[in-house]
Amino acid sequence: MTLFKLLLFFIVKGILADVNETERSGVQLWRVQGDLDEDVIAEFYDRARLTEEIWKRDNRTIDFLIYEEEAADFIVFLDEHKVSHRILIDDVRQTVDEAMLNTFPTRRLAVQGGTFTWTSYPSLAEINTYLKKLASDYPKHCSLTELGKTSQKKPIYALKISNGKPYNVAILVDGGTHGREWTSVISALYFIDSLVKNYDKQPEYMKKRDWHVIPVLNPDGYDYSLTVDRLWKKNRRRLSGTCRGVDLNRNFAYNWGKDLTTLSACNQFYCGPMAFSEEETKAFKRLTDGTHFSGYLSIHSAGTKVMFPLTNEAVNRDDYHLHLDMTKNMCLAMRAVGHQSFTNGNIAKIGKKGYGMAIDWMYYEKRIPHSYLIETRSQNGLDLIPPKEILIAAKEVQAGIMKFAEKLR
Ligand SMILES: [Zn+2]
Repeated sequence: MTLFKLLLFFIVKGILADVNETERSGVQLWRVQGDLDEDVIAEFYDRARLTEEIWKRDNRTIDFLIYEEEAADFIVFLDEHKVSHRILIDDVRQTVDEAMLNTFPTRRLAVQGGTFTWTSYPSLAEINTYLKKLASDYPKHCSLTELGKTSQKKPIYALKISNGKPYNVAILVDGGTHGREWTSVISALYFIDSLVKNYDKQPEYMKKRDWHVIPVLNPDGYDYSLTVDRLWKKNRRRLSGTCRGVDLNRNFAYNWGKDLTTLSACNQFYCGPMAFSEEETKAFKRLTDGTHFSGYLSIHSAGTKVMFPLTNEAVNRDDYHLHLDMTKNMCLAMRAVGHQSFTNGNIAKIGKKGYGMAIDWMYYEKRIPHSYLIETRSQNGLDLIPPKEILIAAKEVQAGIMKFAEKLR
């Protein structure tokens, strides 16, 4: 082989490796149905690692997304427990792409006259331009900080909103941990927008806080989901081998990597080579190391619920009831916006026990007394709501956050 051919061989091999990345692997929607006893469901959750992949669940039915590379193992488990399954959607990516076309037939303007329209999702560039303009238009109450840069050199911003009083209590809010959760991003932006532009009219419980908001914790993933692959969830860091990306919500140093399956780089829940291995989570950690927070609210999409950590209820019964009460109040305030019922509870009960999650790390390691995960409203379990519901979804989150600020002692 001549040197030229050898070079060509490696170039083509490199290109093919990119094309073959499992990031475009098949995704199906499956349904298991029957008398599922609690043990089977618990094991099902553990094995399926489905925190944000469940589209629907009731006593007899679980609809969930499954990735091609996980299907074979899963069938063995279902067979062992004599649970049958059927495929509801053979190619979820295609279905989602078609649904996107129906929901947003033309590219709607996300920004008009320098402000968001709240009927579509802004690009990352639009968000960054907006944040810079807001900080320069409202210097009295706003300051924008670049917390770090992603592996693709995109800035990760946090906006601090405060009246500068020395005894304010600090609250951290973030959105866009997962690339495809667009409504979490626009909800964080809506919260910022309405707080900053109406600062003087805010109730006192909003003004005696230092708000730190990271609207897009995972800019690479958000950008990629918006422009290439609607279902992309992880960040975009190139890893060894063919797979890309770490699930940022498995990369925190509490119970990190305890679920061995998440140690595989191709897994949708890949926890990274070590805790805080990612630029995004490092940036988050720097902020939380430098500021004492009393509350943390992490916005995700979409599941129509508010969850708290405490994987083991017996650890601290008082806190359990405190959290139950706080999240209940938040859900009621959110329901008042658009008659949508939100569920509240322990993440192990109404979500799924996950390892290396941000809300657990903030609660158990940083000792932040209130650390919650808000899941925005959904359409059939998916973050694919009609344009006219985007603003309602954002207002629901705003109502939840305001209720939190009101109740926080
Ligand atoms: Zn999420």
